[in-house]
Amino acid sequence: MSNTTSLRLRFWSLLLISAIFSAGVSAAQTPQSHVANTILLNGRVYTLNPHQPWAEAVAISGDKILAVGSIKDISSYRDSSTRVIDLGGRLLLPGFTDCHIHFMDGSLGLTQVILNGAATMAEIQKRVKEYATAHPNETWITGMGWSYPTFAPTGLPDKKFLDEVVPDRPIYLVAFDGHSSWANSKALAMAGIKRETPDPPNGKIVRDNDGEATGALKESAGDLVAKFLPKPSREERLAALRLGMHEANKFGLVRVHSAGQDFEWLDLYDELRRNNELTLRFYVAYFLDPPDLTSDAINKIETARRTYHDEWISGGVVKTMLDGVIEAHTAAMLTPYSDDPTQTGKLFWEPEKYKQTIKELDRRGLQIFTHAIGDRAVRLALDAYEEAKESNHTQDARPRIEHIETISAQDIPRFGKLGVVASFQPLHAYPDDDTLKIWARNVGPERAQRAWVWRSIESTGGLLAFGSDWPVVTLNPWPGVQNALTRQTTEGDPPNGFVPNERISLEDAIKAYTLGAALAGRREKTEGSIEPGKLADMIVLSQDLFKIPPTEIVKTEVLLTLVGGKVVYQSPKWSSISTTPKKESN
Ligand SMILES: [Zn+2]
Repeated sequence: MSNTTSLRLRFWSLLLISAIFSAGVSAAQTPQSHVANTILLNGRVYTLNPHQPWAEAVAISGDKILAVGSIKDISSYRDSSTRVIDLGGRLLLPGFTDCHIHFMDGSLGLTQVILNGAATMAEIQKRVKEYATAHPNETWITGMGWSYPTFAPTGLPDKKFLDEVVPDRPIYLVAFDGHSSWANSKALAMAGIKRETPDPPNGKIVRDNDGEATGALKESAGDLVAKFLPKPSREERLAALRLGMHEANKFGLVRVHSAGQDFEWLDLYDELRRNNELTLRFYVAYFLDPPDLTSDAINKIETARRTYHDEWISGGVVKTMLDGVIEAHTAAMLTPYSDDPTQTGKLFWEPEKYKQTIKELDRRGLQIFTHAIGDRAVRLALDAYEEAKESNHTQDARPRIEHIETISAQDIPRFGKLGVVASFQPLHAYPDDDTLKIWARNVGPERAQRAWVWRSIESTGGLLAFGSDWPVVTLNPWPGVQNALTRQTTEGDPPNGFVPNERISLEDAIKAYTLGAALAGRREKTEGSIEPGKLADMIVLSQDLFKIPPTEIVKTEVLLTLVGGKVVYQSPKWSSISTTPKKESN
């Protein structure tokens, strides 16, 4: 009997045993070897495979999952060279995907002043000062993450607070949402902003009673200063990406869908891959600006699709934006804003042009992400996808709508019906003051009943895909999982939850970051669940999400992240990795 035959026999007998005792192992269809490089034993393995939802152990060969089953089943894949990881009863999940991220921006932000979570002026000043002291050679101090409530009652910062800590170097700090910025006196002077400087189109230089700039710059007024910032070098960008990947792996991410400007830097991602440095998988969208799909854009998109199509970096996807945001009244609504009946927002694309563009992209088999926040923009995206599908006879194209903050009731079932993916960022629905006082006021109580309609879309057959929109909010997915279940702040407000009928279950939240995300990125055949033959991308958690109240999920820490069978992140708290096989009961 040849080796192969004996392997086959062994393989089929295993399958047979598993068929007889339905608790059993499932193994890859054509195993190259029955010896695993690594086995993970003694875990609570939540697989997302409906035929085998739970298991105790996983065998890995190369970068793929070889088998999933009981401790006993999986121990048979072990020999003296196998690395054994004892999970100590901990929860093992498929690695998470962030379906909406601005990776380069977020990564560069990690090398600058980070103001997220700085809730007082003293804390902001401390962080700025510490950064300036630690980086004496940086000509500009830049950073991001401040939020409006810190500057109550005006909600806007003032240059004097920055001048107090760093008077001699220019400072430029962007708000968490990217819509406002804050400069010190030195930066305003370097940008030449004076009393007589006019406001730019779509922007506002905030001024005091004497007409002098306060340092707060709204929307495009920030560009007056930003254009003087030194451009990061190639090496600085690469260094930032390394930090970004580490940050992502630390929180359990194994893949991201880039919805921003990362397309311009594909060669940097490729350089990291050639150096074997990638520890995160990238699906990178081309960012298409209105008013037109030019032949130059098509060439770039098609070239990226031809060049990048493997498990680490892939192109072939296009992101475009139909509207702005509710808070600034720039999201396109079907009827006027409740707080200001003169405004309905406005579409960034001329509707017919957008529909033609979608039709052409769909005809080419490219996937599409459309940013649509207002109910009018959401409807136009659905209309365009429906028309493209009919005219091109496309099957299973999975076009996506990103954000979907408001929606007309009649459009909810169209996601399921048309096969359109609903890409949400659960922390955008975090019910803090910004959401409850500004967002909800702007849309009014009737439309607010359909705020971030996760459950309604899912229960009408639509697919959910979750992400963060980092650096707008943290890329840590665990607060997002918690908010998907609670729709409450970590302090428990509002007590009954914000639009509580749109809460979803833990299983469905996990799915939206794993198998749902894989479907949303056309990768479900190789990713998204713990199944033989799929990539060995998995995470070990500090606590069992299925055994704790939803309000504890935010405390989850990732102990171990594996990408392609390799440990790419190991928490300092993880000490039980064993390279020597341990005894276990048979
Ligand atoms: Zn975004």
